Amino acid sequence: MVRPRRAVLIGLDAPIASRVYGYAVRGFLPALKRLIESGVYMENYLVPYPTVTPENWTTIATGAHIGTHGITGFWVHIPGEDIYAVRSAWNTDLCQAEYLWDAAEKVGLKSILVNWPCSYPATVKSSYQLWGTGLAPNEWRTDREKGILYVADLADGQLFSTYDIPFASKISLRKASNWVGLDPSIKSLEAELKLNHSACRKAGEIGEKRSKVRSPDRWFMLVLDTHGSGYDKVLLSKSKDLKDVFVELSPGSWSPVVVDEFLTDEGIRKGAFRCKLLELSRDGYRIRLLVTPICNLEGYSYPPGLSSEFSKVNPLAPPSHIFFDGLGWGWYDVDTYLELLEMEHRCLSDAAVYLMKNKDWNLLFMHMHAPDWMYHYAIPIEKWDPSSPWYEGEEKAKLYERVELETYKIIDNAIGRIIEAAGSDSLIIIVSDHGARAKGYEFSPVEALAEAGLITFKETEHGRIIDLDRSLAIPAHGPWIYVNLKGKYRHGVVEPSEYEKVQDKIIDALYSYTDPKTGRKPIALAIKKRDAILLGLYGDRIGDVVYAVKDDYGEHHGQLPTCEYGVGSLKGLLIISGPGIKKGVTLDRVVYATDIVPTICYLLGIPPPRNAEGSIIYSILEEESQISKMDKHIYEHMDIESPRKWALGSYQVES
Ligand SMILES: [Zn+2]
Repeated sequence: MVRPRRAVLIGLDAPIASRVYGYAVRGFLPALKRLIESGVYMENYLVPYPTVTPENWTTIATGAHIGTHGITGFWVHIPGEDIYAVRSAWNTDLCQAEYLWDAAEKVGLKSILVNWPCSYPATVKSSYQLWGTGLAPNEWRTDREKGILYVADLADGQLFSTYDIPFASKISLRKASNWVGLDPSIKSLEAELKLNHSACRKAGEIGEKRSKVRSPDRWFMLVLDTHGSGYDKVLLSKSKDLKDVFVELSPGSWSPVVVDEFLTDEGIRKGAFRCKLLELSRDGYRIRLLVTPICNLEGYSYPPGLSSEFSKVNPLAPPSHIFFDGLGWGWYDVDTYLELLEMEHRCLSDAAVYLMKNKDWNLLFMHMHAPDWMYHYAIPIEKWDPSSPWYEGEEKAKLYERVELETYKIIDNAIGRIIEAAGSDSLIIIVSDHGARAKGYEFSPVEALAEAGLITFKETEHGRIIDLDRSLAIPAHGPWIYVNLKGKYRHGVVEPSEYEKVQDKIIDALYSYTDPKTGRKPIALAIKKRDAILLGLYGDRIGDVVYAVKDDYGEHHGQLPTCEYGVGSLKGLLIISGPGIKKGVTLDRVVYATDIVPTICYLLGIPPPRNAEGSIIYSILEEESQISKMDKHIYEHMDIESPRKWALGSYQVES
């Protein structure tokens, strides 16, 4: 049996595995179809609970359970700190397990990391890393303030409009005057475009956060009637001088990529963006102009100069959260949304292909976030899943399903480019961190615990809050309930001797609670921390009780990895193909996210990362009985330590 020389791991965030599989085998996703036909599709791939992004990508990169690596959610509570104190999970300093890319470096292998969540600050020394500070390039989540989802760098996208649209910047037109170089016989209107350089629109109560860009703070727009038959052209200029025009647009057209300098708090930075004239009425008074996020051409890489090097290949690496919001807010139509996604995935695949062709590498890790944001913001599943109480009817469902399929086609095209560049001697792994499903009913652990007398409230000038001095249990930071222990927390009230008794009371309260809206019991599972080891949850960073809600409760994901609800499912997507892997097999046995790292290590001959806990998925390997002979041959020629001792020692070998 031949073994792969390299491994390419492409992560998709929150795809619904069964839908992707269906689209692929029907021929809509040719790259994924080829991988399924030439490899193994795992239909029972279970991701860790809770089914959330940072912890699960970290498990996939380390082979370690959440309890071991300690990334317990988007926000991590560190023991010893105040009960509500958290740190952003987007920081490798918080991870307690070794990443596969670091283990690989120890035996002289190099990795390429492209947009891998929670991989910054970079831990690699001889490898290559682009982005990883957020879920998209040029997006910052590392050490951000709580309450801010992300910070776009240099600035987020902006929509200018002459009429009211949610979150758009309204502009007013007047007759153009005092323009240098403008032919006075051409009918023309003008407007000033105030650049708000928002860094984040999802900051909740604290409002928009401004980016570090200080200048320019405005552009000048000129609307022209070039043929005397109605307004048909828009120019954007840095001043009211035609010499400073940098973009010329007709209705429906995109500008080329504009690379310009911006004055920021950190000095001059180069940024890239594009503009699209979404609408221009003949009378000139109805205009919508989209400016994409302004992408920082520097930083976000290891070695530090790598992003600037790559920007010569493709400078448009947008923090793309707003692409999905934009469709949901009605900023643009489906076609523009798809054009934006195409730009993003062209950039991501350009990055992977460029680095594979120009650098020395053995492993590639990359992540594409589009399915997650699509299901959360662009086409929320509850609007088109007939099982949901928020279903909007068949006509809308058809449109949303088209968006879903076209989004997957763009992702599939990017995957196709990457696997072609990787070559036929590479192991290819397509993997997700969790699935997605329609948003369900809300469950409030606070209400359940208050009803049982475990939480007491007090009135403050900001409204009703949990009274920490009189509450026995505090829900926080994930599907966790903390026992408010004396000696552990400043406001602790529970004697250590009462710890287990209070855990029992919390569990009883959760199971007994009836949702007044539905008359149902929302809890699927509530267990003591001691028992949560069964779910890979342990250590100081999780709560004292772990709970999970039933399939039709909660958000788009976060429930048990076995959750099935309407068209959605939280099972993971896992396809493995390449030398040494069986062909055209659908595996129905259960496979876990912790198994991916050991399987890669086994096939590539890399000693496993220090904390890897999963098993090698032997059932996907060709000629399983030949494995021991094969090991000897491979490790002799790779001139590294034989894996025999770790294969049998560190790994749990499957039966
Ligand atoms: Zn995710």
